[in-house]
Amino acid sequence: MKRPKVKKWTEPKTIKDYPMGSTCDSDHLTSINAGWRTFRPVINYDKCVNCLRCFLVCPDGVIDKSGEKLEIDYDYCKGCGVCEYECRPRAIDMVKEEK
Ligand code: SF4
Ligand code: SF4
Repeated sequence: MKRPKVKKWTEPKTIKDYPMGSTCDSDHLTSINAGWRTFRPVINYDKCVNCLRCFLVCPDGVIDKSGEKLEIDYDYCKGCGVCEYECRPRAIDMVKEEK
């Protein structure tokens, strides 16, 4: 997966200029999660209807939609739970991290 990089902010001119999703440079986390995440999102593919809402709302762009099914990059996911909150079919569970 293409990793985010820090870059100079410029005023977006069209919708395509807005950072969104893991396939674009999202300008957020540039180093892997340091182990402070307490919960991780887990997708239940039996319930997922592929609406891509989680992909659109993830603030760190770590949900990859380029494969056959959505994949979360746990190296960069901060465990904020926004994806779980926004998933209407309740297809994402926040699961406590193991020590
Ligand atoms: S928001 Fe939920 S149902 Fe929609 S694509 Fe993500 S996991 Fe699947
Ligand atoms: S928990 Fe937060 S950072 Fe991780 S995939 Fe969901 S929305 Fe993205």
